Amino acid sequence: MTPRLRLIVGNWKMHKTIPEAVGLVEHLADLLKKSPPTNVTIVIAPPFTALSAVASALTTHGLFEGTGGGTSRPGSPPVSIAAQDMHWEDAGAYTGEVSPPMLKDLGCRYVIVGHSERRRYFGETDALVRKKVLAALRHGLRPILCIGETWDQRARNQTGSVLAAQLTEALTDVDKDQGADVVIAYEPVWAIGSGQPATPTQAREAHRHIRARITARWRHETGERVPILYGGSVTPENIGELLAIREVDGALVGGACLDPPQFARILAVASSAKA
Ligand code: PEP
Repeated sequence: MTPRLRLIVGNWKMHKTIPEAVGLVEHLADLLKKSPPTNVTIVIAPPFTALSAVASALTTHGLFEGTGGGTSRPGSPPVSIAAQDMHWEDAGAYTGEVSPPMLKDLGCRYVIVGHSERRRYFGETDALVRKKVLAALRHGLRPILCIGETWDQRARNQTGSVLAAQLTEALTDVDKDQGADVVIAYEPVWAIGSGQPATPTQAREAHRHIRARITARWRHETGERVPILYGGSVTPENIGELLAIREVDGALVGGACLDPPQFARILAVASSAKA
């Protein structure tokens, strides 16, 4: 089986105006040009308002991988863009929402769904997450499905059952062929933005559990192709240790991706990590 490419996703959350977003991309492009990462797939998820400007800035630097494929300069992997959320319908009376075709239009290849901040602050349920996963796949967007337990659930030894329930709910009706396009991000809620990442043992255990579930669901061949990312307080200092875990295929990075030198260092460590 060919090794899964390291996948590093930067989630900007609700940060950066358009000029700030372009400035961040310019800085990042400069760093990538100076020391191009290898063996790594790079995705960034700016807010909706900045997606178009970010795609243009990446294009200017020959770094944009849009829906039609890459335009990367030699030596440097291209950068894809993701949305941080979306509605599941193509169009309709849903004030304030953004649909899958709108994201495709902007050149998005990925979309984050079920982030714990959406579950926590906006009441997003597993049933809604499922609709979003199916809509993304229907439109050729790769869903980055976020799952993870709270500290209380971990303390009550419920981590395995919480992950299993979230996976079952979100992936019902996703068949084996579609499964190969799903990305899963294990993000313990207590580790997000806390400065306290999961220990390697905790991450390994959770990732093994997730892998076992999806290989059982979609059979070995497809289940093995699904990248499982770790997310929660990833930094340049701890990414090496996390990627050294065989079961960890990449990372979903929040805070550290807003700082181009830190994000570039994370990409550099990911490049040198053993697949
Ligand atoms: C996230 O937002 O998905 C995340 C992992 O954030 P942070 O890296 O800041 O913990």
